[in-house]
Amino acid sequence: MNAYDSARMAEILAPLGYAPVDRPDDADMIILNTCHIREKAAEKVYSDLGRLRRLKAGRAAAGKATTIAVGGCVAQAEGAEIMARAPGVDIVFGPQTYHRLPEMLARASREGGGVLDTDFPVESKFDHLPGARAVPGASAFLAVQEGCDKFCAFCVVPYTRGAEQSRPVAAVVAEAEALVVGGEREITLLGQNVNAYHGDGDDGGDPWSLARLLRRLARIEGLARLRYTTSHPLDMSDDLIAAHGDLEALMPFLHLPVQSGSDRVLAAMNRRHRADDYRRIVERLRASRPDLALGSDFIVGFPGESDADFAATLALVEEIGFAQAYSFKYSARPGTPAAALPGQVPEPLKAERLRALQDLLARQQARFNRACVGRDLAVLLDRPGRHPGQLVGRSPYMQAVHADLGGHALGRIVSLRIVACHANSLAGAVTTGDLAALAGAEA
Ligand code: SAH
Ligand code: SF4
Repeated sequence: MNAYDSARMAEILAPLGYAPVDRPDDADMIILNTCHIREKAAEKVYSDLGRLRRLKAGRAAAGKATTIAVGGCVAQAEGAEIMARAPGVDIVFGPQTYHRLPEMLARASREGGGVLDTDFPVESKFDHLPGARAVPGASAFLAVQEGCDKFCAFCVVPYTRGAEQSRPVAAVVAEAEALVVGGEREITLLGQNVNAYHGDGDDGGDPWSLARLLRRLARIEGLARLRYTTSHPLDMSDDLIAAHGDLEALMPFLHLPVQSGSDRVLAAMNRRHRADDYRRIVERLRASRPDLALGSDFIVGFPGESDADFAATLALVEEIGFAQAYSFKYSARPGTPAAALPGQVPEPLKAERLRALQDLLARQQARFNRACVGRDLAVLLDRPGRHPGQLVGRSPYMQAVHADLGGHALGRIVSLRIVACHANSLAGAVTTGDLAALAGAEA
C-alpha cells in the first residue's frame, strides 16, 4: 500500500514540476513514506531523519533549499513527536491527506515549515488525485479499500489508516481501465482488509462484494491477471471462494494471514476465528481451485504464547503447506490492547520460535518451488534482470522467474519451461524455436 501511495504522491506533485530522482542528495524535496506496523520500521524513521538533516544542512551551505516531509502511518501516529524530535522536518502528513500535498508545500514555503496535517478528512483523497496514470511496467497496484475495523489486539492499522472504507465500483473500474490502456497486464487490488470490500455500485443497489468487483474487472479487455491482498479469513465469503474456481484471470495464489495455529492465542488476538475455521476455508478454496498456492502471515511470541501454543502453529503449517509466507516476532505497539497484556514473551524465546517457524516455512517454499521444475508456467515478464538480456517476471503462483530472452518479451506473458530452482526464484527457458518467434514478434 505504501508503494501505491508513493506513486500517487509522485503524480500529484508532477504538475508542480517535481519528478523522482535517484539519490536524496539531488532532491529539492524528500518524502519519507513510513510504516508503523512494527517497532523496527518506526524506529528507522528517526535514524533516517538524522541523516537527512545533515544532508539538508550540507545542501543549504551550497545555497540549495531542501523540503523534508514525513508521510504514512508513523506520521499519523507520532506527528507531533516528529515535529518536536526532528527539527529539519517541514511537513508531516498522514495516509489520508496526501492529496493536499500541493497546499502543504505552499504553506511550508510561506511559513517556513511546521505544517502538520494528520486529519481523517471527510472527503476521500481518491476524489482529489489525478485520474489516469502512466506507470512503467506490466503489473500495477490499485487501492480499492482502506483502513480496518477488525481491531486485532496487536495491530495499529485501525488507528493509523482509520476506519474501513471502500472506493466506489465506477472509480475502481475507471482506474483499472486506464492502467490497462497504459500497458498493464496484471492488477493487484489492495486493501488492509481487501476482502471486506463493499463499494457502492453504479446501480443504486446493495454494495458490491470483492467477488463481484473481480468479475467486473475480469471483463476488461487486455487485463490478463488479477490478484488481491491482504485478506482476513472471516471475510472469505462463498462468492469469493467460488470466484477462485471460475475466474480464469484470478491467479492461483492467495495470501491469507492466519497469525497463529492456537485457538487460545487467536482468541487473545481478537482474530474472531479458530484454527479449524482456517483449515475449512483452505479446504473449500482448494476444492474450488485445486492448484491454489497459499501464503500467510504469522506472529510468534504474542503475549501468553506457550510452547504448546507455538507447537500448534507449527502443526497448522505442516498440515496446510504454504508456498510463501511472512513471519514476525510480536512487537508491542503503543496504544494497542496487546501491549498491556501480561505474559510478554522474552526476546530470546521469540527469536528461537521465529527461527523454527522460518526453517519450516523455508522448507515448504523450497519443496513447492522444486515441484515446479520441469513444468511450463505462464510468466508475466515485467522487469529486466541483473544480466544483459535477462528478464524477470512472476509465475501464476507469485514466484519470481528469470530467463535469458535476449531482452525480448518485456511486458508480455510467456510460457516458460522451469529448468532450475534457487532459494527465492526459478530459472525458466524457452526452446530455441520459441526464442526466435519472440524476437520475430517483437520486430
Ligand atoms: N490485514 C492483514 C495484515 C496487515 S498487517 C491481516 O489481517 O492479516 C501485516 C502483518 O503484519 C500482519 O498480518 C501481522 O502478521 C504483522 N503484524 C501486525 N502487527 C504486528 C505486531 N504488532 N507485531 C508483529 N507483527 C505484526
Ligand atoms: Fe490489523 Fe489485519 Fe487485524 Fe485489521 S485485520 S486489525 S489490518 S491484522
